[in-house]
Amino acid sequence: MLNTVNLFFNRAADHLELGDQLRQILLTPNRVMRVEIVTESDAGGLHHHLGYRVQHSAVRGPMKGGLRYHPSMDEDHAASLASLMTWKTAVVDVPYGGAKGGINCDPSKLSEAELYRITTTFVGLVKEIIGPTIDIPAPDVNTNAQIMGWIMDEYSKYYGFSPGVVTGKPVDLFGSLGRDEATGRGVMYVLEEYLNADNRKLSDVTVAIQGFGNVGSHSARLIADQGARIVAVSDISGGIANDKGLDVPELLAWVKENGVVKGFPGANAIEGDAVLTCNADVLIPAALEEAITEANAGDVQAQIIVEAANGPLTAEAHDILIGKGVTVIPDILANAGGVTVSYFEWSQNIQHYRWEESRVVEELDKVMRKAYRSVAELAARDGIDHRSAAFVLAIKRVARAAASRRSIKQHLPPTLLD
Ligand code: NAD
Repeated sequence: MLNTVNLFFNRAADHLELGDQLRQILLTPNRVMRVEIVTESDAGGLHHHLGYRVQHSAVRGPMKGGLRYHPSMDEDHAASLASLMTWKTAVVDVPYGGAKGGINCDPSKLSEAELYRITTTFVGLVKEIIGPTIDIPAPDVNTNAQIMGWIMDEYSKYYGFSPGVVTGKPVDLFGSLGRDEATGRGVMYVLEEYLNADNRKLSDVTVAIQGFGNVGSHSARLIADQGARIVAVSDISGGIANDKGLDVPELLAWVKENGVVKGFPGANAIEGDAVLTCNADVLIPAALEEAITEANAGDVQAQIIVEAANGPLTAEAHDILIGKGVTVIPDILANAGGVTVSYFEWSQNIQHYRWEESRVVEELDKVMRKAYRSVAELAARDGIDHRSAAFVLAIKRVARAAASRRSIKQHLPPTLLD
């Protein structure tokens, strides 16, 4: 996946006529850390896992990015997702750099007590390189508010009360109101902006969503609340579809009770992957990377793809879809609502102050719509797709900040200064 992120970066860098040296400076992570996590299992044996934290760039502020607990987590994954965070925080213009990490493990096979031991041991191993002004982790796939609470608690044992070391915490433990749904809310705003520019509304479209975890389920709820018809969703258990529109509140209650979408009585069962190619105006991949490849891109029927997940399209799939006239709203814009409200949470933590939920929603609305318009205007002005435009915008902001820090302005090409 790192190759895909670098390829998208390089296309924008070509557009900006960046030289090799500047590309290398912008692409190389500041620091890569791998740690060995040895803990006791409940059965009295040993668990052995590898943990990662890749800190990509601190040029625009403390580094920021999620922690993922998944059997696929490795250095390549962490590095590609860390790089995406640098560009994402720049697209929405929050004062952060980019980082990402996680633990190579399968949480579905671990008890809560085992997860706690693994998490706190990981914190002990990375504590010197994270911190409220250094690197601030957040939830990602298979991590949640509870795990963020454990991280804050463990870190605070070493450094004193430190709510700003991590975001996405429980609201009872200095988390922000509105953080849980923030990524889904941001997805809704960018889709609405896109449709408004085309004189359409959310109530005019049908939507299919892959993944029904934090991002997928909140996106479904918020988009359905605005009148869109959610015609298909999937998760790890398979897919469900209903042409008339799924009853999202009932589906959410079903998933709360049963854990997965499978078996929901108000829909027909379909193959999980069929959601990606079903008959819907909008497709929202909200699961894992590389869901759409050159093998299935040609079969996608949606005219708009909103990348709620990170890296859900391979480069080949992206090019096939753009060639078919599909609009792709890229991950570094579409799912930036999460990091934006993480920034609000961190701001509240360092001021020891709590915002009303209405303020969070209002500020997120402003940030996401402004970012969408900046990207869309740049895409139209330069005749490039939305992904390239988002990268161009981000690279300009990061490169200019780097130049201002290091007095290397004379090394920047004029395209970065306009
Ligand atoms: P999550 O663990 O809450 O949910 C993941 C969902 O994907 C689950 O419903 C799971 O069953 C489903 N899934 C996994 N494999 C699947 C498959 N093969 N087919 C269909 N569904 C599958 O994770 P999340 O936090 O919702 O993250 C989802 C994506 O959004 C990730 O790419 C993540 O990096 C990205 N993201 C998350 C946030 C955030 O705030 N949580 C912010 C930005 C980006």
